[in-house]
Amino acid sequence: MVDFALSEEQLMLQELARDFANEEIKPNAGRWDRDSEFPREAIRKASDNGLLTLKIPEKYGGGGMGSFEEVIVCEEFGAGDPGFATACGSTMLASYPILTGGTEDQKERYMTKVAEGCIASYCVTEPGAGSDVQSIQTEAVKDGDDYILNGSKMWITGAGYADWFFVLAYTDKTAGYQGMSGFIVDANSEGVELGKKEDNMGQRCSDTRSVTFTDVRVPSDNLVGGEENGGWMNAMKAFDLSRPTISSHAVGNARGALEEAIQYATERSTFGKPIIKHQAISFMLADMATKVEAARLLTWKAAIKSDSGEKNTLEAAHAKRFAADMAMEVTTDAVQVFGGYGYSEEYPVARRMRGAKVVQIFEGSSQIQRLIIGREMTSGN
Ligand SMILES: Cc1cc2nc3c(=O)[nH]c(=O)nc-3n(C[C@H](O)[C@H](O)[C@H](O)COP(=O)(O)OP(=O)(O)OC[C@H]3O[C@@H](n4cnc5c(N)ncnc54)[C@H](O)[C@@H]3O)c2cc1C
Repeated sequence: MVDFALSEEQLMLQELARDFANEEIKPNAGRWDRDSEFPREAIRKASDNGLLTLKIPEKYGGGGMGSFEEVIVCEEFGAGDPGFATACGSTMLASYPILTGGTEDQKERYMTKVAEGCIASYCVTEPGAGSDVQSIQTEAVKDGDDYILNGSKMWITGAGYADWFFVLAYTDKTAGYQGMSGFIVDANSEGVELGKKEDNMGQRCSDTRSVTFTDVRVPSDNLVGGEENGGWMNAMKAFDLSRPTISSHAVGNARGALEEAIQYATERSTFGKPIIKHQAISFMLADMATKVEAARLLTWKAAIKSDSGEKNTLEAAHAKRFAADMAMEVTTDAVQVFGGYGYSEEYPVARRMRGAKVVQIFEGSSQIQRLIIGREMTSGN
């Protein structure tokens, strides 16, 4: 039997995250966005409350929970503010390759730091290679006990505040994607240079920058998994874990927009009645609600399958594609419900709509999710 009821522990976690969103995120999100202010203190508080490291095993100081608990919490962060959700999300995205493919020593050194509240970034995209990951140019060449890393990464979330980076680089350029390796690079290593914070359309509190590596010496102990050329699988598997989380951010953002639109439609009157009594508006709200519910179910399914230990690539792609596109539609409709007020920054819906857009682009665009879905449907998986 499929049971949609949350356990008592999950309900408590949801309430903790919802209270955090109402008290720490929502009152500050407008200012963070306007001033492009990175919410470092709020992220620290969320970490102190154990909300950011649910999936780090207990032996490294994390919550020892699963993807399902993570998506419950992350929906609340998205309902608080999509930019905050992304700003928090970079650390676990960088951590997944270590959790799934790192050596015990790497987990002890870096997952413990994450559980203590450090920020990390996932460095795969480059100026000339986003969707087409195989076109990356970054290279790591063995030199004694170290590797010498050279290359430029682009659009790196959290980079300005990160203690360490997960970096995908070629160790054998002749072998295509099978010649890629993952490295853990300490942010204070000589030769690491950060670009300026990008002036993005939305999610402006999240820190996005380029990171350049010039002759950076990386000890062999920081080659993820201890063996060369397993980086591609490692970096891609991280997405099976992160996409349910990103989907839950989008579900939360859309749910927040829906809740705000319902409240506004109840208070705003035209032609002698609240606009929610105009069928055109109530039908729009009904469609928005259905879409949020559907995206949540896809997200939960992707997370539950991940927790069962089964491959969830298809379910994660369904959830990410649908939730990202859904949030764009729902937040756009929420602006419509608000009329002229929706077009100003006086209400949060404009920020939600700007923040929804990037979810259709990062962690595999909506087009790339369709490619994955097509491939998975025909590969017998
Ligand atoms: C705010 C922000 C934060 C980010 N954070 C990170 C991060 O922390 N780490 C990181 O590594 N990257 C990060 N990225 C990069 C992000 O993952 C890439 O932008 C994304 O993968 C798309 O790559 P691209 O921008 O190079 O676009 P391109 O790959 O050039 O794509 C351009 C367009 O073409 C479409 N397209 C491309 N190939 C195909 C195809 N085969 N079929 C159909 N359509 C296709 C795309 O969907 C897109 O619409 C971030 C990006 C942004 C904007």
